[in-house]
Amino acid sequence: MDLWFTELQTPGMKISCKTTKVLYNEKSEFQDIGIIETEQFGRMLVLDDIIQTNIEDEFVYHEMITHVPLFTHKNPKKALVIGGGDGGAIREILKHPSIEKAVLVEIDGKVVEASKKYLPEISCGLSNERAEVIIDDGIKYIKEHKNEFDVISVDSTDPIGPAVGLFAADFYKAIYEALKDDGIFVAQTESPFFNKDLIKRVNKDIRSIFPITRMYTGYIPTYPGGLWSFTMGSKKYDPLEVDETQIPELDTKYFTPQLYKATFVLPKFAQDLIK
Ligand code: SAM
Repeated sequence: MDLWFTELQTPGMKISCKTTKVLYNEKSEFQDIGIIETEQFGRMLVLDDIIQTNIEDEFVYHEMITHVPLFTHKNPKKALVIGGGDGGAIREILKHPSIEKAVLVEIDGKVVEASKKYLPEISCGLSNERAEVIIDDGIKYIKEHKNEFDVISVDSTDPIGPAVGLFAADFYKAIYEALKDDGIFVAQTESPFFNKDLIKRVNKDIRSIFPITRMYTGYIPTYPGGLWSFTMGSKKYDPLEVDETQIPELDTKYFTPQLYKATFVLPKFAQDLIK
């Protein structure tokens, strides 16, 4: 019998993955959590029927949401991830020797528990002694922390349910205050093809708060359209002025020092969104 998991990526487009096993399925206080075994992408974390991450392509997203801001900063010591309960962003942050502490603030403890059990390749950093896991609402947490972090990555679900506020101007203001004087933040900002209005609004909001705002992209096969956007707000360092020849090689599968610069070069239609 053929079993297929299908995500409705837009009202008019679906992605289907042939599924060999359901490893875990539970409804938490916040969402329906599933971990399934797929033929094409291996184990996959699905929240409310939306693909979050999987063993095969997770490296793209997790490397791009972390190494780009971390290499823009001159000496990052304390990093924060909001959302990201699978632990992939924390795993990547810990590859930077300058990092003394990487804090994860995830609203749903069950996502962290399930990822630890079923996705150890992704969640492995969460048990590192430099990592701290806090189960709390990132919006509440950020308002209670001022002038504390060098780099903040907002590794959120789509702007639905508890993640709506993670795409709001007030949240970006609180992030600005939670960062040190030369701090940088990056948020995943959805698809340049399918989320044009969101990208326009978010970019405008971030530009009204941070002196430097840059958008960059990565290619993620299981996200709608493949091409995915990230938006950076920086208080002092401009990624376009970073000398990429000074970026050291890390143990990565997507990110390279050369790609760092190239990732800010946008297709025309994406440039037009943030004019
Ligand atoms: N890479 C993924 C994507 O773009 O689809 C995101 C993965 S990560 C699993 C997203 C996490 O954000 C979820 O586990 C969700 O529980 C968490 N989240 C949503 N709203 C949040 C909030 N207000 N505070 C903290 N975490 C939140």
